[in-house]
Amino acid sequence: MLKKIKKFIYKTILRRQYYRTGQCNRCGDCCKRIYVRHKKDVIKDEKEFEKLRRLHPFYLGLEIVEKDDNGLVFRCTNFDEENRICKIHSKRYAICRKYPDEIILKMKAVMSEKCGYKFTPIESFEEVMKKMRKK
Ligand code: SF4
Ligand code: SF4
Repeated sequence: MLKKIKKFIYKTILRRQYYRTGQCNRCGDCCKRIYVRHKKDVIKDEKEFEKLRRLHPFYLGLEIVEKDDNGLVFRCTNFDEENRICKIHSKRYAICRKYPDEIILKMKAVMSEKCGYKFTPIESFEEVMKKMRKK
């Protein structure tokens, strides 16, 4: 019964497709290798990023570490490498508080293999197939 209520809340009220389980193990990967997506694409050049920096303070803390086939890769200067914690933890931005959110999966972002969180579909493959057969 509890499972059914949980499923109803997640699916119908929160409109989620995945359950998130696990916890942060402070690997720091999400603070050290960041792609920045603006509108539909990943930021690919410095000029584009300079414009974006004026829009939100989160971007001011980022510095470019490399450029790969996807675009620019950033690290956040607020990450304390020695203590493996965010220097502004209690005041960190909403985007950081919510990470990892299922929206990043929908944006085709790839989570670090070291991340302590996992996502599992709320509806099993069999349930989806059953619904399709009914239609
Ligand atoms: S502000 Fe803190 S939590 Fe957010 S990316 Fe930077 S170091 Fe990580
Ligand atoms: S990648 Fe996952 S486990 Fe690592 S710091 Fe970020 S949220 Fe925590």
